[in-house]
Amino acid sequence: METCYVLFGSNLGDREGIFASACLLINNRCGRVVAVSSSYESEPWGFEAEEWFLNRVIVVETGLAPDALMRQLLDIEAELGRVRHPEAHGYASRTADLDILYFGHRVIRTQRLTVPHPRLHQRRFALVPMCEVAPDFVHPVFQTTQTELLRQCPDTSVVRKVDATN
Ligand code: ATP
Ligand code: CA
Ligand code: CA
Repeated sequence: METCYVLFGSNLGDREGIFASACLLINNRCGRVVAVSSSYESEPWGFEAEEWFLNRVIVVETGLAPDALMRQLLDIEAELGRVRHPEAHGYASRTADLDILYFGHRVIRTQRLTVPHPRLHQRRFALVPMCEVAPDFVHPVFQTTQTELLRQCPDTSVVRKVDATN
């Protein structure tokens, strides 16, 4: 069993409803969802879009191999309505994006999978929720905690916690 950190992102449709469905499907097919971060709203990163993202980290204990987990997550994205446009370049709005940030402390570089996620340390929208669920988790390549990665992150884009009382 490994503890994996999966980043959910959505900027289309009923974002919280899609998140809830993603958690149910992950719990059914990938392993046990043991924790989730609060909700964060973040401005689109790397492209222009009207709709801000909902980002949340899902902590899952899985017995699946990394490539099997990735395949399941891609299937779940598709079932939740993600449409991929092969002719499009760069980033686009999406109903569900599920990225593997960490797979335990493993370092994986295959054609289909790079773990830890190669852009995680450049993104406040990933580091802020990671700091909530696992501030002391050490990045297996950089050998620094999530707190330290966030402190050093040059990204200035807005990430704000959604007030749960609203
Ligand atoms: P980014 O990776 O910059 O966040 P993105 O999430 O928009 O961009 P996608 O189109 O969702 O990119 O993913 C493209 C491919 O990236 C996936 O099909 C998957 O095989 C591959 N990939 C490699 N490493 C990872 C990882 N750690 N998590 C998720 N996908 C990964
Ligand atoms: Ca992504
Ligand atoms: Ca992705």
